[in-house]
Amino acid sequence: MIVVSSCLLGEDCRYNGNNNYDRRITELLEDKEIISICPEVFGGLSTPRPPAEIQGGDGEDVLEGIARVIDKEGNDITKNFIEGARESLSLIKEYGCTLAILKAKSPSCGSKIIYDGSFTGNKRVGAGVTTALLKKEGIEVFNEEEIDRIIAKL
Ligand code: SF4
Repeated sequence: MIVVSSCLLGEDCRYNGNNNYDRRITELLEDKEIISICPEVFGGLSTPRPPAEIQGGDGEDVLEGIARVIDKEGNDITKNFIEGARESLSLIKEYGCTLAILKAKSPSCGSKIIYDGSFTGNKRVGAGVTTALLKKEGIEVFNEEEIDRIIAKL
């Protein structure tokens, strides 16, 4: 069972009400059993919603309480992000998923690089909050840009 970011599958759950549909990923997973997650929706955030970034670190730092998730209007939505990550993990455990394909650069789902919290488009090395929690639990997380590595795993 593979867990996939809902927006990659075409669900309109992005902050701006759109999706990140990725044809290569959906075709690749056509005959696979998948579950779809959107941690930000799981965390009680509405769609559309203001964009959010992690300030003061990455997803791991958020889990350790030393960084916060702030939306562009200045609201602290750290709690929502942590709740969404926990809800995602609980579903993943329930279904026994060991592999995740999550959207690159997202403050929830990003796995290698995320926005740096300045809302200027600048990025930093690090994972989003959900990815950080899944990695702690030993779940392998790839993003949609790592297609060759994903193919090698399937
Ligand atoms: Fe939801 Fe993750 Fe997609 Fe953001 S990147 S819309 S949290 S599934």
